[in-house]
Parts: sequence; C-alpha cells; structure tokens
Amino acid sequence: MKKVLWQELRRTEFEEAVKADAIIIIPVASTEQHGNHLPINTDANCCSTIAQRAAQAIDEFPVLVLPMVWTGFSPHHMEHPGTITLKYHTFVELLTQIATCVHTHGFKKILFLNGHGGNTPIISAMRIKLSAEEGISAVGYDYWNISPATEEMEAVSETDRGFIGHAGELETSLQLYLQPHLVDMDSAAWTSGVCGNPSVGSRQKGERIVNAAVGALVKMLRDYHSGKLEEGLTIWRPDVSDEQKNQFRYPRYSGD
Ligand SMILES: [Zn+2]
Repeated sequence: MKKVLWQELRRTEFEEAVKADAIIIIPVASTEQHGNHLPINTDANCCSTIAQRAAQAIDEFPVLVLPMVWTGFSPHHMEHPGTITLKYHTFVELLTQIATCVHTHGFKKILFLNGHGGNTPIISAMRIKLSAEEGISAVGYDYWNISPATEEMEAVSETDRGFIGHAGELETSLQLYLQPHLVDMDSAAWTSGVCGNPSVGSRQKGERIVNAAVGALVKMLRDYHSGKLEEGLTIWRPDVSDEQKNQFRYPRYSGD
C-alpha cells in the first residue's frame, strides 16, 4: 500500500508531493462522551478511517492525511466523563496554525474533513478568517454531508432518518463495523448525551455508510484536484449556471 499518512513521509517525499499538487486532508474530530455504549474516540475513528481509505483509493495524484486533530469544540459534552474539549479561540487558532504550516510547505489544496457536529460552524468561520487574514484558501466538509453519502445514510437509516445524530443509529452502526470490540450493545439505549436510537445499529449498516462516505469523498477530492469543486463554489460569478449553483448549495437543510 502506498503511503498516505503525512507523518510517515520523508523531506524529499514532501517535495515530490508538492510538485504533484497533492491534496492535504486535515481530519478534525473530538474526544467526547458517546453514551454508555460507544468509545470516546468515535468521531475521530470514523473521520480518520474515511479520510485514509479515500486517500488510498486515489492513484492519479497524491492525497496525504495529517495526524488527526483529536480534540475539538465539545463544551456541551463536558457533563459526561471522558470528554476533552478546547476553548473556542484555542480551537480556531490551532486549526489556523496547522493549515498555515501546511500551506507554508507549498501545498495549495487543503481540506478540513470534520467528524464532529459541534465543530461544523467553527470550521466554516475559521476558513473565512484563514482566507481573509492569511490569504490561504481551504475547503471544509463533514464526512456525512458529502453527496451521495448523505442519500445512502437516509436509505440505510430505520429510525434516525439519515441524521448522523450522536451515538444514535448511524454512529453505533459505524462503530460496530470499525471498532466492534469497543462497543457494548447491552447498554445501547437512549440516555442523556445520546441523540438518536442506538439499539437499531448494525455492522452491515455501518459498512454501507463507510463505503458510501469513502466513495463520495473520493469523488469530491477528484473534483477539488481538477478545479471543478472550486469553480462550483464561486457562486457569485456571473458565468456560473443556476444548475451549478444548486449543485453546490450549502448548508443542506431538509424541513421534513
Ligand atoms: Zn459522534
């Protein structure tokens, strides 16, 4: 298997990756309570696994995955044991400095792949700050919010209607597939700190979701490398069609 982990490369290999216009994935998640039945590394494990599998699946250009940013913004989980959160400005500054270092080494394509809902608005805002104050453009997505993975989650879901939730049906399924030895299904029930219905999680659902998320991320990375993604994001340009604008509409919202 080729090397996709940033920390395994030598200096000369970074120079080659810059020449090949590599995409750098910064996986960002959390260390936080996930009910009584899931490990606290659930978000980090899902996010880093999906990032690494997508990077491995692409041969046309290099994709490198940074070491996981294992703590994020989780003050709302601190009432339960195990949670490690950063303060708001510390988190923003941490992400800014990591991305700035990556950019300083010559990489122009940077993706924040997020695995924790509490990080989502902060990553969106810090990307604007990063662009305005450092002149660095980066894209950012939640792994569950990349089409067509989102549609697959809706199809797989029996009770949580495709909503990633928190320690509910979908995250429980993901962990039954990725880290079954760390899941205690005897205590998989709703309790404070759980959003969704963990009892209907299954390994099969988890495998389908991971495969869909990896496939969607691969497609997005190819579009990012070719320039198609950023063209679509430039929605204020007069030459971008309504169809393209709709394709990249964000954030997603479904009122049903
Ligand atoms: Zn989670």
